[in-house]
Amino acid sequence: MKRERSAQLHEEAMEVILGGVNSPSRSFKAVGGGAPVTMERAQGAYFWDVDGNRYIDYLAAYGPIITGHAHPHITKAISEAAANGTLYGTPTPWEIQFARMIREAIPSMERIRFNNSGTEAVMTCIRVARAYTGRVKIIKFAGCYHGHSDLVLVAAGSGPSTLGIPDSAGIPQSIANEVITVPYNDIDAFAEAIRVWGQETACVLVEPIVGNFGIVPPKPGFLEAVNRIAHEAGALVVYDEVITGFRFCYGGAQNLLGVEPDLTALGKIIGGGLPIGAYGGRREIMEQVAPLGPAYQAGTMAGNPASIRAGIACLEVLRQPGVYEEFERLGQLLEEGIRRAAETHGITIQVNRVKGALAVYFTDQPVTDYASAQAADGELFARFFRLMLDEGICLAPSKYEAWFITTAHTEDDIRATVAAVDRSFAALAK
Ligand code: PLP
Repeated sequence: MKRERSAQLHEEAMEVILGGVNSPSRSFKAVGGGAPVTMERAQGAYFWDVDGNRYIDYLAAYGPIITGHAHPHITKAISEAAANGTLYGTPTPWEIQFARMIREAIPSMERIRFNNSGTEAVMTCIRVARAYTGRVKIIKFAGCYHGHSDLVLVAAGSGPSTLGIPDSAGIPQSIANEVITVPYNDIDAFAEAIRVWGQETACVLVEPIVGNFGIVPPKPGFLEAVNRIAHEAGALVVYDEVITGFRFCYGGAQNLLGVEPDLTALGKIIGGGLPIGAYGGRREIMEQVAPLGPAYQAGTMAGNPASIRAGIACLEVLRQPGVYEEFERLGQLLEEGIRRAAETHGITIQVNRVKGALAVYFTDQPVTDYASAQAADGELFARFFRLMLDEGICLAPSKYEAWFITTAHTEDDIRATVAAVDRSFAALAK
């Protein structure tokens, strides 16, 4: 597959855009380097690059594009919003409608605030938890990524781990000192952290199903124990559902798993492909936020009609009957096909999957936490990634990122992908 124009554009980009990319996770540094593919057009489950090559997309823009690219219902909503002005700086009727939709689906979000990104949503949840509890420390789980604000770039997964910088430079030690990190799925380690720091802890930040070192579900009882132990110490529980919100069911992972946090952060999917974040939770906690309370959070672009109307349209698509059942069916088909291909060619892998999101790890150990995800073979993944790219399958350029199926993927797309995996594994086995 020729990608000459991509290579040329990358050279040009490097001269003007730092590193040639506007988010480091788009770089190919972790998969052998070189030019990332420059895409020009996207429709449904497909991408076309600037050299005219077509790809089946499992990147889904790192999660938001759950209905496929340029879904007609969402495109119509965005066009209508654009024609009526994209930003008012005043309340609008759509934000009320959207907040109601979200609260109906995720009842723990009794009061909601929209903002512009997952980073902002999580950052503000921490501020609100600190304001409510009067405490400073936070506990997070190793390898979970919660955006790029100072506090959460400690032992961060996803992009930072991909590039080998889980503890970012530029963050004062005094801030890093306020963050305690424990292994995911390790309730003893969490209980110990609470025993030592519980009385100083404002909140524990949790990805209820991890989406930032592949896909890692919580062990049975883990989330329940986190809630109980945190609450006994007077700390709040914040679910970062930026990836998981509306991914596995029409609601949060909290609704699928039956465990409720005090505060929830959302992003990605709820913007229907436009920038958005949202946070919310128990009313008396949320009432810490201005104008009702003393904790400040604001945003010029927050609740803009374009993002909100795209989000409403996206949820309207997702609440159609059968959507999540189809994710399960296609996810299973893909998982089985990948496992079969691995067996045929003697490639050792682990596949973790929840509905239409899965991760393939080149390791013989089950992946249940960050350490076991780190142990997966990154070089083998890099070779696999490039083989798949040449097969016309677009994955994220990182062994830590998930594959996402969208409502636009068909059984034929999945079968074509499985055939590509089979040929790629055959090449790896040589
Ligand atoms: N939280 C989680 C779980 C994420 O996966 C991400 C992004 O990947 C974020 C927060 C940050 O969201 P954003 O990139 O919209 O700032």
